[in-house]
Amino acid sequence: QKALVEVKQLKQYFPIKGGILGRTVNHVKAVDDISFSIYEGETLSIVGESGCGKSTTGRAILRLDEPSGGEIFYDQKNILSFNKMDMRKLRKDMQVIFQDPFASLNPRQTVGQILGEALAIQNVVPAEKRHDRITELLAHVGLRPDHIDRYPHEFSGGQRQRIGIARALAVEPKLIICDEAVSALDVSIQAQVLNLLKELQRQYKLTYLFISHDLGVVRHISDRVMVMYLGKVVEIADKKSLFENPQHPYTKALLSAIPVPNRKEKRERVMLSGDVPSPINPPQGCRFHTRCPFAVDRCKTEVPQLTGVSNTHQVACHLV
Ligand code: SF4
Ligand code: MG
Repeated sequence: QKALVEVKQLKQYFPIKGGILGRTVNHVKAVDDISFSIYEGETLSIVGESGCGKSTTGRAILRLDEPSGGEIFYDQKNILSFNKMDMRKLRKDMQVIFQDPFASLNPRQTVGQILGEALAIQNVVPAEKRHDRITELLAHVGLRPDHIDRYPHEFSGGQRQRIGIARALAVEPKLIICDEAVSALDVSIQAQVLNLLKELQRQYKLTYLFISHDLGVVRHISDRVMVMYLGKVVEIADKKSLFENPQHPYTKALLSAIPVPNRKEKRERVMLSGDVPSPINPPQGCRFHTRCPFAVDRCKTEVPQLTGVSNTHQVACHLV
């Protein structure tokens, strides 16, 4: 399988300023030395509680923030060395869908104008063909083409997210990063939007990076799942192994909180106590040791490395 994106030893430290001189006194270690690939045509999900670094990782790949360290390759090219021209091309290949489509849709523009603008910026279709392309896009995401002159407030939450999807699709991207894309929607609407995303992936051969805190949603859409905790990857596996045979105590704890859909998933229940520690001074050794019911002495000093338990499943825990 070909890697469309390769992230190598990515670090994202955000400075904290302090004192009367406003000097950097500390850092939030939002992402701390993570490596993974996104394969062409797959859906890789990143899951974890808020503050684990999943959105930060997505933002770094989109180059919305400059990483503090590491490398990001897109189609084998190091995007951190891209100039303006390269970036323009990259913006066309990589699109993003956020949680709240309402916040990213201009309330004074009609759906037609919103999509027309996306088409014009990247110059995907000639001006005289734009109207046809817009009605086609609306149909593809399950919206009525004759609603082209309506404004965002005239649509429901689910329909607005469909507009966001149409806008992302408009420029014919290869990769779409969905950051909590269905989290604000009712459960029944979530399923519809997830099914739409899957259908579009099949039609357009899209690759998804799907960021979510919701394992139920992740189970529905993913091919592979990466679990993050406090800026680190703790487990990455194909979906089946992750849900049927989770290895990391943190993954087990996340899974313990959602219903078991079938008998295959006989899971050990792991309950967590305490809160996620601060990413400013994360615990030494295994970052999870302050909450892990299985922690041993070694966990307090030695950082566990990601190790393969099979060729599609890696985990970072001393006990595995
Ligand atoms: Fe728990 Fe230790 Fe494994 Fe970390 S390395 S998850 S503390 S057992
Ligand atoms: Mg987030």
